[in-house]
Amino acid sequence: MQTANLPDPSDATIGAGRIQRANSLVEDVYEAIFAQLMALKIPPGSRITVDSLVKEFNVSHTPIREALGRLEGEGLVLKTHLIGYRAAPQITRRRFDELYEMRLLLEPHGAAKAAAMMDEAKLNVLLEAAGVMSRREGKDDRVRYSNFARQDAIFHDKILEFSQNELIRETLSHQHTHFHIFRLMFHARVTEEALDEHEAILAAFGSADPDAAAKAMRIHIEHSRDRLLPAFD
Ligand SMILES: [Zn+2]
Repeated sequence: MQTANLPDPSDATIGAGRIQRANSLVEDVYEAIFAQLMALKIPPGSRITVDSLVKEFNVSHTPIREALGRLEGEGLVLKTHLIGYRAAPQITRRRFDELYEMRLLLEPHGAAKAAAMMDEAKLNVLLEAAGVMSRREGKDDRVRYSNFARQDAIFHDKILEFSQNELIRETLSHQHTHFHIFRLMFHARVTEEALDEHEAILAAFGSADPDAAAKAMRIHIEHSRDRLLPAFD
């Protein structure tokens, strides 16, 4: 990934001159738009014009369109024929409740199964995924927040992978849950508290304790729900 030195996406520093290869250009443009969407600089439901992004990032139309196509595949951007792109609207309160009900049914169960089959290699994968989230690296808040959202999605997805039910894993993955819930608000509390809860989940995996893993996962998801509920006030 070419994201280690991603500049603040709010300023137009991504010029063609500093990027050598076309694929890393698309990657950088993608990351910059992704960060703006996750941190609500591009508000949910708002129009996204290719021309304004071309100006903002000082690149041609092609990488912008490629990046928007990728974001469309992730459910963050919608494309309407003859109208163009807009940011996906905020999820509704009803969909939020449904998502958390589904997560509470599936993820504690998945965590218990993963804990029962835990080994050192798997634990290292999860420790690495969790570790990336806690690294601050001097990035600006928007980039850190969007990275956290993606990394949290990877962390939860890996646990489901290790629970060895691909149908459950795909079902949750197709909802792009983490991208939608992190877009409900842009606040450090969302990420800081989750780190402690992830520690508890990892401790349960470390001792290969299915009951503790299920409980820690349930608490994490319930707290995540409670942190984000004020977004609907
Ligand atoms: Zn999490």
